[in-house]
This record gives sequence, structure tokens and C-alpha cells, in this order.
Amino acid sequence: MFEKILIANRGEIALRIQRACRELGVKTVVVHSEADRDAKYVKLADESVCIGPAPARDSYLNMPALISAAEVTDAEAIHPGYGFLAENADFAERVEKSGFVFIGPRPESIRLMGDKVSAKRAMIAAGVPVVPGSEGALPEDPQTIMQMARDVGYPVIIKAAGGGGGRGMRVVYTEAALLNAVAMTRTEAGSAFNNPEVYMEKFLENPRHVEIQVLADGGRNAVWLGERDCSMQRRHQKVIEEAPAPHIPRKLIERIGERCAEACRKINYRGAGTFEFLYEDGEFFFIEMNTRIQVEHTVTEMVTGIDLVAQQIRIAAGEKFTLRQKDVQFRGHAIECRINAEDPFKFTPSPGKIINWHPPGGMGVRMDSHVFSGYTIPPHYDSMIAKLITYGDTREQAIARMDIALSEMVVEGIQTNIPLHRELMQDARFIEGGTSIHYLEHKLSQRP
Ligand code: ADP
Repeated sequence: MFEKILIANRGEIALRIQRACRELGVKTVVVHSEADRDAKYVKLADESVCIGPAPARDSYLNMPALISAAEVTDAEAIHPGYGFLAENADFAERVEKSGFVFIGPRPESIRLMGDKVSAKRAMIAAGVPVVPGSEGALPEDPQTIMQMARDVGYPVIIKAAGGGGGRGMRVVYTEAALLNAVAMTRTEAGSAFNNPEVYMEKFLENPRHVEIQVLADGGRNAVWLGERDCSMQRRHQKVIEEAPAPHIPRKLIERIGERCAEACRKINYRGAGTFEFLYEDGEFFFIEMNTRIQVEHTVTEMVTGIDLVAQQIRIAAGEKFTLRQKDVQFRGHAIECRINAEDPFKFTPSPGKIINWHPPGGMGVRMDSHVFSGYTIPPHYDSMIAKLITYGDTREQAIARMDIALSEMVVEGIQTNIPLHRELMQDARFIEGGTSIHYLEHKLSQRP
């Protein structure tokens, strides 16, 4: 096992990784920007290093500063968390070239999956079902593009190969709009992602977002750890996640889970990863793979009892990965609500000082958060300040516990989306389960 790990992230995930390290007996180095100097998890770490001013590009995205921080503290490995540099193949490569272990997949895997065209191609080769569409990047010839769209069938969606974060996509309903949409997405993709390649997919009108968690050792051993339903989204941002996904036959989940594990073996995937699918009419369609730990990994931990972050670290340390598929047992139901510092109606960010913070507790309640009474949320980063997770024997119990936990929670001084979550815990369609990715936006548009 490593002696010391550098955590190249901030906020709740920096604390989450620190907790896993402490449990494993590993010392931690936490890096922070000038804006995060007073965070409690920074003080809890064995060592801390200021890596630059508040803006992320000068600190959390500053590769030389991160590598030097690892050098001066003698850390052996770097955990990137999620966001920032977690899926940057160049960073992973620089970390390894500088003699440190990158806690994540090999740079080649990050690169393969970071380009959605090559990712899809790899999935097709591995027998994972994908959304029908152009198998590869779109050609230049307009006639060919039009013929492709006719074959796929309207509506289609034009997506940037290098896209991410819900950007670089355009839905096209008619042939008349097609070529213009392709040209615009290309231009945007060129400037935003430095890669003008675009591809085409059938646009699924009412899908759910269901994803499969995997762990793999970079060789022959790969297991899948069940699914998560992340359909409750606003502007392509997940708001609530749960495991298992309601009303999907176990047989279908097992079949797709096994395919994902097999795909990991085929590409020698190492570490934790997520295969994201759209699920519609009993079918799964791969959209992308995330080569990192995800925000919503917690719900999988609750229903499997497996610490995913500790597993990532063990795999990176080269410990023998002994987990077998038959050891992965699912029990109960877990739900995660992302608590954001934002206006619950207008969704504008609400940074500032938290005057009073009273987190909930009780049986089956987990709170992953770095904030506290008196903490000032800096305006420079993501608005998520906490993840509230509840667990129950059944989905009803997990919802009931979430409802109670949210009612106990007090956050004063800033605005949060707790009122939205409380509304959703009482929402008949959510309680029924299995809503599509458009449900929340639709519900919000009906608000008076
Ligand atoms: P990103 O990397 O930007 O998150 P994804 O490929 O994961 O891009 O797509 C983001 C979201 O866009 C999906 O969760 C889904 O809501 C929507 N989307 C993407 N592809 C399709 C499709 N073929 N049909 C319908 N919706 C889609």
C-alpha cells in the first residue's frame, strides 16, 4: 500500500478520498487554492500545499503546480477525484512520467473513452449495445450525411466527439435543418473542444439514464457493481441518483452488467469506471464511459457495502484484486440528493457564508459534505456543497428516510435546493419510480 497520497481535488470528494486514505492507513497531502485555505478537510490532512489562486485554471487545473506539490511532499500517488483533471489523459501521463502513480485508468483508456467516436467503436467491438447512428465521425459530403440521417431516422442528434458536460450537442427534427446543425456543431466543437469531429445518433425521445459501475484490475478480472438510475436531471446535470433502478428486470441488468465487465477485460481497463446508457423500451444504449469515480458512487456503496474509493486506491497500489462477481451482493435501496448552494426556483448560484449548518442523521442516513457552520462557499467552483444519501430495505423506506432527513436539515445564510428535493420526495411520479430524463425539466416548466 502507498504511504502517502496527494489528493488533487477539493470539496466533498477531497474529504471522501481523505477518509478512505485514513482508513487504509495512508497519509494524505491535500492541495488547495487560496480560496480553500480555511476548509476543514485541508486542516485534517497530514500535509497541505497551496497550489495557486482561486480560479481553477490557476490551481486545480494547474498541472505543474500539482506535480511539484507531489514532489515536495514525497507523495507516491495522486488521486484526481472527479471533474478538474480526472479525465485528462495528458495529466495522467504527466503524473506517471514524473514517477507517481495515477489513481485511475491508464492514459490510453482515458484517451480512448474521452473521444466519443473511438469510445463507441470500442463498445461496438466489445459487444456493448450503442445508440444507432453514424459508426464513426461524419464525413464532409452533404449527400452522404443526409442519407445517413434518413437511414437512422429523424429525430437525430449531432454530437461532438470531444464533447462533455452536456455541451456540443444539437437535436435535428427535419432534413431541412440537418446540414446547418452539423456545420454549427462542428464549428462549436472545434473551438470548445479543439476537435471539430462530430457524429450522429438516433435521438431517443423519452429515455432514462441508467449507468453501470465497474471495477477492474487492468487484466482479466473485472466486476460490475450494479446500476444507478440518474434520470432526475436539470440541464443534463444529475440532481438525484438511486440504486437499484426501479422497474427494470434484473435479467436485463445482469446481461448489460456482464457486457460492461467483458468490455473492461477487452480493453484492459484498470480501476473504477462507469458505463452510461440511455434506457428506453427495455433496451440499453451506450452513450459514454466515465473513467473516474463519480459523484453518485455513494449509492452503489450503500447497496453493495463496497468502498469504491478504497478499491480504486488498492488497485492503483497493485494489490491483488480479489473481488469476484459472486461476492458482489445487492441489498436494499439507496438514494442520493445533491445539495447545491443555489436558488431553488431560479437556480442561480448562492455562494457565501453559512451561518448555521445542521446536518440530519439517524439510521440509514449518510452525509458526505465538507461544509460546516461558519464556512464560506467560494464563488469560483461548482455549487454542490453536500450529498445526502439515505438507505433502506426498500425504495419506500429510502424515500421516507430522505424526506425526514431533508426536513431536519437546516442551512442558513445561503440558499439551497433542499426545497426542490423535498418537493420531489413527495412527487407522485418520482414515488412511482422510473421517470425519464425529461421529467424534472417538464415538472419545473409547470411551476407557477
Ligand atoms: P456529455 O458527455 O456531454 O454528458 P452524453 O453523451 O453523456 O454527453 O450526453 C449527455 C445527455 O444528452 C444525456 O444524458 C442525454 O440526456 C442526452 N443525450 C445524449 N445522446 C442522446 C441521444 N442519442 N438521444 C437522446 N438524448 C441524448
